[in-house]
Amino acid sequence: MEYKDYYKILGVARGASADEIKKAFRKLARKYHPDVNPGDRFAEEKFKEINEAYEVLSDPEKRRKYDALGPNWQDQFAGFSGFRRSYPYGSGRSSTLDFESNSGFSDFFEALFGRSARTPRQEFRRRAGDNIEQPVEVTLREAYTGGTRTFNIQSTEICPVCQGIGEVHGRACATCGAQGTVVRSKKIQVKIPAGVDNGSRIRVAGEGQPGIGGGPRGDLYLIISVKPDPVFERRGDDLYLDIDVDLYKALLGGEALVPLPDGRKLMLTIPPETQNGRLFRLAGKGMPRLRSEGQGNLYARVRVVLPMHLTDEERQLFEQLARTRNVEVRSAT
Ligand SMILES: [Zn+2]
Repeated sequence: MEYKDYYKILGVARGASADEIKKAFRKLARKYHPDVNPGDRFAEEKFKEINEAYEVLSDPEKRRKYDALGPNWQDQFAGFSGFRRSYPYGSGRSSTLDFESNSGFSDFFEALFGRSARTPRQEFRRRAGDNIEQPVEVTLREAYTGGTRTFNIQSTEICPVCQGIGEVHGRACATCGAQGTVVRSKKIQVKIPAGVDNGSRIRVAGEGQPGIGGGPRGDLYLIISVKPDPVFERRGDDLYLDIDVDLYKALLGGEALVPLPDGRKLMLTIPPETQNGRLFRLAGKGMPRLRSEGQGNLYARVRVVLPMHLTDEERQLFEQLARTRNVEVRSAT
């Protein structure tokens, strides 16, 4: 049984980080993917090796077990009887695979992790690209009405010159610096659903990292934060705001306009003798419930505004009112 140096296979140091391992794997997987190298037996075997190495090194538990192998690693497999491999690498079979007879992994792998360690898989697994998260700020008005917005994103694309292999005629691809991918600025239109709040995630399908071997692209997730609003305070699906009501309306009754985040205004009836700070509930006029029915409530808090710059006549009238209520005031006269 042949010892497999998974680090060497991926071309990374023994202490490589998970990220380094992933990067190395992706680059090699693109290069040796059978779709890119049809009929190339060397590439096919290489691709299997890379997948196996990644299977081990990307799994912390498997990696620990693998790293623990000492110089006498073969002794550890003393009890391992082995099994007949019907279709070893390079047998001439190509993409179709009988899972019962061949896992696609080496004897070494199966001796170390057991046959059950493997997961049923396609021989040439197409790997979906990674998802990307991007923070996005919206106004309260946008969150209230929902709508469509255009965003500029940095999109990673398979290099059009080398098709993701990183090489052209055996030389490093100059277009992508041998990375296999290029980054492009791209405009996307995204529907913002009404009711989004801080931390809401909007999925934009297929705008994540490119997949491997024709695998689907990952998704882009926009992570919403709602800008604080100067007028409205949001508490869940409810909105609070202060409305100015002058003294006379507060005392005698009247009407006041209550703005909504979308610019509309509602008429609110102010009953006589409305106290400062009184809260009026406008049912169903708050934030739309995200991906659900109905809306929260809007609470209008009365802020009584006193008249200023009184005329002499007004002052005398207020003094008169004060006397009828037996309130002692400092008289101007
Ligand atoms: Zn390239």
